[in-house]
Amino acid sequence: MPAYLQGRHFHHVMDNILPTFSPEIPDGFAKSVAQGNPQICAQILQTDAENLWLPEELEDPIGDQRFSPLQGLIHRYPDRALLILTQRCNVHCRFCFRKLQVAHASTDMTLEQFQRMEEYLQQHAEIREVILSGGEPLLVQQDFLRHLLQHISQISGIEIIRIHTRMPVSDPLRINSELLQTLNSCACTLWMVIHVNCAAELSTAACAAIRSLTQQGIPLLAQTVLLRGVNDSLDSLLNLLQKLIANRVKPYYLHYPDLVPGTNHFRIPLEQAIELVSKLRSKISGFAIPELIVDIPGGLGKIVLQHSWATRIAENIWEFTSPLTYEKIQVHYPQSLEN
Ligand code: SF4
Repeated sequence: MPAYLQGRHFHHVMDNILPTFSPEIPDGFAKSVAQGNPQICAQILQTDAENLWLPEELEDPIGDQRFSPLQGLIHRYPDRALLILTQRCNVHCRFCFRKLQVAHASTDMTLEQFQRMEEYLQQHAEIREVILSGGEPLLVQQDFLRHLLQHISQISGIEIIRIHTRMPVSDPLRINSELLQTLNSCACTLWMVIHVNCAAELSTAACAAIRSLTQQGIPLLAQTVLLRGVNDSLDSLLNLLQKLIANRVKPYYLHYPDLVPGTNHFRIPLEQAIELVSKLRSKISGFAIPELIVDIPGGLGKIVLQHSWATRIAENIWEFTSPLTYEKIQVHYPQSLEN
């Protein structure tokens, strides 16, 4: 066994945590798995490649614990707080950035825990937005979700509640009239961010679930993890983005995979990721292009990675690269006469 696989943490994770993060096949993906769709299978079926844990891969890859003043509440950015409603999830994506927390999953947030969070939110007037996350937040009891939405909406200063979910694609039949009524009971502006990684996830049932959400007037965004063998080609990304915007879902983030134990096989080189996204520029409308994001390990925040299309080469002279032809042209922008 290589030296980097012999550490105490490796054995702790392999013996105690990863066995409980066993594959789950949600109803929305079952048909694709049965048909052996490689893009879906790669996301949810366990492989031997997961046994490789590199020293750079972390139990808490984006530093949630450092910004968690209360269990289940993460306050990293001043104006927003994230609540983990449950650690349960119906998918168990093999690359999940909360893989080790989801693996410990057993209990949902209790009413008492939420009351402590409510007090925290009331005491922090700078918080304008609350993000409901997990695990899969839409797995919690409907009456508890309704209670949360109503109580958070009543906190002075909170304007937006954002739900991060994979449910519209993983189990679209759960986006039913009862859930829609619950979401409708929210007095704050509600946004939803759907985790979706390939066009095959947007089945007929998933598109119907998405339509029912848009018909409620809920703005929808998509977040996607850039995964080798799933969506790391121009064609696969374009298929996904075209299908998203056709269904009124705005692509928001394309996440470079976090340094999660046993996920090295999912990462393509960073420079390749930047180049891939730059090629989208001439292939699809600008509003359909997500931002390529990296969460700095340790919790120091997200950054956008971009191809550089412009270089300043002299006073008021810039060199631009055409996204259509990749020609470089120099452009002189005369100084404003008012300066
Ligand atoms: S749906 Fe989200 S929380 Fe659930 S396993 Fe996938 S990445 Fe993790």
